[in-house]
Amino acid sequence: MKETKFIFITGGVLSSLGKGLAASSLGALLKARGLSVTIQKLDPYINVDPGTMNPTQHGEVFVTDDGAETDLDLGHYERFLGISLSQRNNYTSGSIYNSVITKERRGDYLGGTVQVIPHITDEIKLAICSLAEHHPDVAIVEIGGTVGDIESQPFLEAIRQLRGDLGKERCLYIHLTLVPYLQATGEHKTKPTQHSVKELRSIGIQPDMIICRCEKSVSPDLKRKIALFCDVDVDAVFSSVDVDQVYKVPLAFYEEGLDQKVAIMLRLPAKNPNLSPWRDLVYALDNPQGETTIGIVGKYVELKEAYKSLHEALVHGGVANAVKINLKYVNSEDITEETVDGFLADLDGILVPGGFGGRGIEGKIRTAGYARENQIPFFGICLGMQCAVIEFARAVVGLTAANSEEFDSASPDKVIYLMTEWFDHRRNATVSRNYDCDKGGTMRLGAYPCLLADGSLCYRAYRQKQISERHRHRFEFNNAYRDVLEKAGMRFSGVSPDQSLVEVVELPDHPWFLGCQFHPEFKSTPMAPHPLFQDFIKAARATRDGRVKQQASYGSPVLR
Ligand code: GLN
Repeated sequence: MKETKFIFITGGVLSSLGKGLAASSLGALLKARGLSVTIQKLDPYINVDPGTMNPTQHGEVFVTDDGAETDLDLGHYERFLGISLSQRNNYTSGSIYNSVITKERRGDYLGGTVQVIPHITDEIKLAICSLAEHHPDVAIVEIGGTVGDIESQPFLEAIRQLRGDLGKERCLYIHLTLVPYLQATGEHKTKPTQHSVKELRSIGIQPDMIICRCEKSVSPDLKRKIALFCDVDVDAVFSSVDVDQVYKVPLAFYEEGLDQKVAIMLRLPAKNPNLSPWRDLVYALDNPQGETTIGIVGKYVELKEAYKSLHEALVHGGVANAVKINLKYVNSEDITEETVDGFLADLDGILVPGGFGGRGIEGKIRTAGYARENQIPFFGICLGMQCAVIEFARAVVGLTAANSEEFDSASPDKVIYLMTEWFDHRRNATVSRNYDCDKGGTMRLGAYPCLLADGSLCYRAYRQKQISERHRHRFEFNNAYRDVLEKAGMRFSGVSPDQSLVEVVELPDHPWFLGCQFHPEFKSTPMAPHPLFQDFIKAARATRDGRVKQQASYGSPVLR
């Protein structure tokens, strides 16, 4: 039986050095070499999962098919590797402690004292080794946080022990550090890297490879110096130079020979990689044939990481249409009747993303109305779809107090409401949720099937009758309003197989107006751009082309 080899990636000096991108890029290269690869993130924080964390603090919550609420790095992994991940690909200190404490309460430890070593570390090792169950060639494990943090110590201790458990020929330790460039003296500084490796060694881990995150490529002399002080091979020190586009990282690593060195050190049966898809992608990104401006109207605009997958899916849609995407983030709290024109008039496409809570909600509803009235392509995702429904009910049907139960529980027309029971196809049973007892996992989460209506915008995009998309929400379209909205012109073009849940709404007589209850952005990859994002950008591009033509014929000034 093939034995899985493990690559552990740790980080030093600073957080946010791009460990997730480094891990994903290495994974993509190994996959391009014909190896089967899986990947996991271990997060040191105490939350059981990031589901309850504010996106402006921690960035987006990424959702997998099996309904796990995970760290956004899993989004990078899926996009770079083109694979579908699950619950098993992300653990936190909280989830590890949670299962140890559950076992302890059950009496599994037979009266023993439960300790960090060996009980917590064993639980971590179990989580890591579960990656080998299907015998991939390689399992990449990224340890979140920075070496030296108190919280990450059990994880580091566990990966240290694994070298003994699995054998050193099955483990490779890669340390990512910062090599700052001092403008004043015009030189790179290696001291932070030396200190960080010293810290790592003090807990018993000797890195096999060092990746230096830097503004400019690290010179061979400097690599020799780092190799000498940190006790690694000279050809095991690599630069990870800042790039303008994340999809350039795999090719940059390949140029440096990083994946080749990994394959040699782990004795992997690697072929020469086929990198033409990556080269084509980078070429397409660098040579767009036009551009289009998309507005994202949401409330987490101060931290771009909060809309990570969305941003990437729009970029993928741009690649599919050979256009550069200019993204304009608009805070929905700033949108009022008076300001809406100023914010949205020059956009080629408008997207209202997912979100929770009432802040800025009226601005989002007004945005959906503005796109509807002004024939601007509109894409409403999850909360964005709910806003489009509320707007339509108010402005077109005349239910002026229509709202979602989430924002106005006293509304006479709760067109979006809390469904406490639904059929869960994964468990093949009706589930009901008690929303008062537990704030985690009380949503409709993960992949659900959806049937598309012939001739609809979504059917035209997917070109198939049944699709599966990922969900993360509590509220649903209220079926009591289906007939009245339909009569007024709204089309319910995507529904659950038993017809009980509305999943997609559309407006005919509009260039492209679509809202979906699911999150399509989680399934878009650069190599397979998501059909809805492709068609949204196509419509936005057509809108821009139309305006350019119109302005040319009127001789008006160029587009803003
Ligand atoms: N707050 C809404 C709900 O829970 C929408 C959630 C979302 O956009 N992800 O239904």
